[in-house]
Amino acid sequence: MQLELTTQQKADQAIFRAFVDETIAPNAAQHEQAEALPETLINTLAQARYLVATLPPEAGGLGMDMLTYGLLTEEVGRGCGSVRNLIAVQGMVAHAILKWGTLAQKGKWVAKIGQGETVAAFALTEPNIGSDAGNATTSATQVGNQYILNGHKKWISFAQRADLFLIFAQCEGRMGAFLVERNTPGFTTAPISGLLGLRASMIGEIQLDNCAIPQENLVGKIGFGLDFVATTSLDYGRYSTACGCVGIAQGCLEASQQYTHERTQFGVPIKSHQLVQQMLTNMIVNVGAARLLCYQAGYLRDKKSPDAIRSTMIAKYFASTAATTIANDAVQLHGANGCGPDYPVQRYLRDAKIQEIIEGTSQIQQIKIAELTPLLRRKG
Ligand SMILES: Cc1cc2nc3c(=O)[nH]c(=O)nc-3n(C[C@H](O)[C@H](O)[C@H](O)COP(=O)(O)OP(=O)(O)OC[C@H]3O[C@@H](n4cnc5c(N)ncnc54)[C@H](O)[C@@H]3O)c2cc1C
Repeated sequence: MQLELTTQQKADQAIFRAFVDETIAPNAAQHEQAEALPETLINTLAQARYLVATLPPEAGGLGMDMLTYGLLTEEVGRGCGSVRNLIAVQGMVAHAILKWGTLAQKGKWVAKIGQGETVAAFALTEPNIGSDAGNATTSATQVGNQYILNGHKKWISFAQRADLFLIFAQCEGRMGAFLVERNTPGFTTAPISGLLGLRASMIGEIQLDNCAIPQENLVGKIGFGLDFVATTSLDYGRYSTACGCVGIAQGCLEASQQYTHERTQFGVPIKSHQLVQQMLTNMIVNVGAARLLCYQAGYLRDKKSPDAIRSTMIAKYFASTAATTIANDAVQLHGANGCGPDYPVQRYLRDAKIQEIIEGTSQIQQIKIAELTPLLRRKG
């Protein structure tokens, strides 16, 4: 297990931090207010090859290993939760196609997603089905050489903007994953605004009314949709969420250190008060613990360890709950200023809460972690 970053990883981390401080963080509040990410930012991310940095170079990526990708994701998460969500979703769809798609699907879509020519969305959740995704009701019926999709998806990140949608639907009682282009007749989206957090994630609903797609758009086989295709995407998205939460928590810590140094009450900087120090210390310890769990998950992912999925769940569960607690304390330490628009901590708090819900809620992670953790048998 690697406990310290290599010289190369530290150098990469510094590059990511500078990129985020220059390109993403200064505009995060503005994007949130606009409830959208600008096209120029998507292009900038594509040019830097950060949209799906884990793709091979010929597909618009950097062939980045997962631990380094975690460092990038932490920095992006510190800068803006919605940008972190954008790069997560692009990776979720691109890697699902790369792993389960046909040669034609890979050739047609993966590089376009990596290069930002096609913005992708991942559509599993429905108005009445979230955690219990296996019981999704959207249907796919094969008619000749087409599938006809009917149903309703909700809470889909970048539904307002995406060109290509990975849609999960039941076909004769078994789940399939289908690629649907925005301009397909019978396919419509509607925006959802006023969210608690991740407000620039251009969330939307999708309506599928007799939406006919070529049979070649099935990803993997019928029956592979949830256990293989969605699992590939959600595992990738969960790692991104975990690392992004470390970024949120780090951002809260840095803001709180600065503020408690500058703010004076009772004649001294508030960081001199022991109850304030207690909150700062809890932040420091929990950011560090969450980061180490993410490094461990990244390391195991790079080694293709069978324990990578479980350790990613552990990292996501711990980092998302820690980020929410840390962001809550950061607002507390900022007092009224923490509730206003001049400091980023209220946005961090709202974004952190969402991380406990997306890519599998904290309760679902708790159930899975307990189920997947083997019993250690002691001798004697
Ligand atoms: C900002 C945002 C972006 C999103 N983006 C996407 C996206 O791009 N694509 C997509 O498909 N979805 C997306 N979602 C939806 C998200 O994945 C779901 O919200 C999530 O899976 C939880 O489903 P739910 O909201 O229906 O909650 P429910 O499943 O109804 O759960 C409600 C509560 O019950 C608890 N619960 C449920 N089952 C159990 C159980 N067995 N044991 C214990 N507790 C349980 C949950 O933990 C939760 O606390 C997004 C959501 C948000 C808020």
